[in-house]
Amino acid sequence: MIDKKITIGILGFQGDIEENVYAICSALKKLNIEAVVDIIQYSRQINNIDGLLLPGGESTVISSLISIQKDMRESIKQRISDGMPAMGTCAGMIMLAKRAYDRTIGETKQQLLGNLDIIVERNAFGRQNDSFETDIKVPFIGDELFKGVFIRAPVVTSVGSGVEVLSELDGKIVAVKQNNIIGTAFHPELANDDRFHGKFINLIIDNKKK
Ligand code: GLN
Repeated sequence: MIDKKITIGILGFQGDIEENVYAICSALKKLNIEAVVDIIQYSRQINNIDGLLLPGGESTVISSLISIQKDMRESIKQRISDGMPAMGTCAGMIMLAKRAYDRTIGETKQQLLGNLDIIVERNAFGRQNDSFETDIKVPFIGDELFKGVFIRAPVVTSVGSGVEVLSELDGKIVAVKQNNIIGTAFHPELANDDRFHGKFINLIIDNKKK
């Protein structure tokens, strides 16, 4: 039993913010855990959270908004490298990556956090019209297939030695874990299945016990 409620931050600049709040609340209920869920928009909030979820959306927009407050990117980066759990979905995973590129424009200049030792190709399945849903295998969350919702999704084209591949689709890496960090190319918050969010909450609980 932990004595203090955990606080889960959802980066609140752009993208699927509400959907992630909903998925986190649903997973909390299932796990019978009470927590504070906080939308994060200011750097002063970063020290009060026990985990940070970075929603999908548009990574160029999220990285510009993060950069407005001069210490925000550094504070997030520091907390994650000190062991705070983080989960990034789609654009959120791009934000966590070391490097990102796009097939047409090459290396993108957006400022990333870089905690997750992966290289990602943005829009790797094509643009909006090429968005799709498909069932994927993710043993990390259980035997039952997971509905992968891919919207202008990236793929992971290279992983560092400390990175575990959680799922592949047609030979392309679409979910990874590196210690305290989970990244998915798809949108678990749109799958009506909170198993990824549950795993993220468990990482937070485990880290809190340390
Ligand atoms: N293509 C977007 C990007 O590069 C990600 C799309 C998404 O998050 N659904 O940021």
